[in-house]
Amino acid sequence: MPERDADIVIIGSGAGGGAVASVLAPLVARGLRIVVLEWGAKLREEEYTGREVEMASRLYFDSGGTFTKDRSLTLAYGRAYGGSTVVYTGTSLTVPEQVIGRWAVPGLGFADVHARSLKYAAENNVHLLPEEDINDNNRLFLAGCRALGYHVEQFPLNLKGCRGSSLCNLGCPNRAKQGSHRVQLPRAEAAGVEVVTNCRVRRIGERLCEAVVANPGYGEPSAWEPGEYRVRAKVIVVCAGGAVNSPALLLRSGFGDRLPVLGRYLSLHPALILVGEHEQPISNFNGHPKSYYCDEFWERERFLLETCFYFPFVTAKNLIGFGAEHSELMRAFPRLQMILVLALDPALPDNRVRLDRSGEPVVDYTLTPQVLDSLHASMVASAKVFFAAGARRVHAPAGSRFFIDAADADRVAELIPRENVKPGKISITSAHLMGGCRMGRDATDSVTDSWGRVHGVPWLFVADSSLFPQCSEVNPYLTVMALADRVAEGITTRIGELLA
Ligand SMILES: Cc1cc2nc3c(=O)[nH]c(=O)nc-3n(C[C@H](O)[C@H](O)[C@H](O)COP(=O)(O)OP(=O)(O)OC[C@H]3O[C@@H](n4cnc5c(N)ncnc54)[C@H](O)[C@@H]3O)c2cc1C
Ligand code: SF4
Repeated sequence: MPERDADIVIIGSGAGGGAVASVLAPLVARGLRIVVLEWGAKLREEEYTGREVEMASRLYFDSGGTFTKDRSLTLAYGRAYGGSTVVYTGTSLTVPEQVIGRWAVPGLGFADVHARSLKYAAENNVHLLPEEDINDNNRLFLAGCRALGYHVEQFPLNLKGCRGSSLCNLGCPNRAKQGSHRVQLPRAEAAGVEVVTNCRVRRIGERLCEAVVANPGYGEPSAWEPGEYRVRAKVIVVCAGGAVNSPALLLRSGFGDRLPVLGRYLSLHPALILVGEHEQPISNFNGHPKSYYCDEFWERERFLLETCFYFPFVTAKNLIGFGAEHSELMRAFPRLQMILVLALDPALPDNRVRLDRSGEPVVDYTLTPQVLDSLHASMVASAKVFFAAGARRVHAPAGSRFFIDAADADRVAELIPRENVKPGKISITSAHLMGGCRMGRDATDSVTDSWGRVHGVPWLFVADSSLFPQCSEVNPYLTVMALADRVAEGITTRIGELLA
């Protein structure tokens, strides 16, 4: 089996891995070899076609529909040069101070996370869209929330030259979205970091990664020929495979024995896609899809409402029912206003990543009664927003009827009974996967310390969304980058000691 040597091996090139690669890149000039091993492909520019099924299969694990074990949720997470940042929408929020307080990680302060988040907001050109670039779907949301007196804010977005094609979740075909594949990874490569795509790390031994390079039949060729490799990390390994694959990789590599918390405390921001039908067409296909969010229910009912736009297949999958009513609603697709709900879920030890018999990850996740309460309250609140924005009827997944007409707008709470909100009965998704290698004090409560150092394994670090001890309660990517930045700074500061 061919062997490769590097001083630092980074596994995964998403929000976390990209940030680590760019911060560590100056070490190349000091003579260190840094290699990023990325499972996914780097698409050629002309391969960003915007075709839903094709892009989903090339840029996501399981085409964006990985089931949890009990099949009550589907999980969407990216597999590509740039990880999920290739398919994320680019809404760029910094984590609130209360959340870092609730995390209570010894040594991790709000000011530090905030300053690092602002660094990446600046690097990724985060700004507010001008009024004229905001499309109907977003205007209707704003109008509906304001009419009800709900607090609503504009999303900062990380764009440069956005052409409003609304294809963000299928990979931006216009090079506008400033993900890690556009900013941090090219910068790291320019400084001499090597990125090996189509390269899956199967296992990590004592500073030794077992990896397989394959040719998926699309994208730029990998820097290495297809085959199996042993990659020796002379100094350290940084695991940045995301909240499912980092815990899975460490479990597969046998670290579970000394780290009882490994894989546990996963949170997912369980999400619903809700629709209201208007009389007139809505410009959902043009303009950036996500300009506003409503945090009226953040503290008490524990959910956020956000604008969104999903493509026909994803929308159809997320509606409840089938047959005539379902196709009637899908035929109204150009007239649908859409809202995305994020429930703010607790991190529980039994919500976790484990391995099946063949060593592949399985996600155990139970929706708690409180999360189901949040989802129920969010359906009622969203129906009110749709009607306040002028919708003629609303489809509520837990509604006692498929459609609720505007004439019944005052009865939405009654027509969406709480007892209908049951796991498996409504379509719930997640694109915010967090935890599994949580930071904390020691091996009894966590996998790493607040610098991403794995307890008791001096050569192993984690730098991705799996570090979150609980959910971020806002869209997470800037916080992932901030934590990865901190991990990389800790490595840089201690590099002399690590090399010794
Ligand atoms: C559709 C979608 C929309 C989103 N929108 C937003 C948004 O608007 N705002 C926001 O803040 N957040 C958003 N997110 C979430 C955000 O993208 C993630 O929180 C963030 O990218 C997670 O960073 P990460 O480094 O943990 O993992 P990722 O970015 O997912 O990167 C992990 C990478 O590691 C690779 N990998 C995994 N295992 C291995 C292995 N064994 N060997 C080699 N490589 C491996 C994967 O292929 C992947 O490329 C969205 C996510 C999705 C899916
Ligand atoms: S809306 Fe803007 S960022 Fe999104 S895919 Fe289109 S051009 Fe890219």
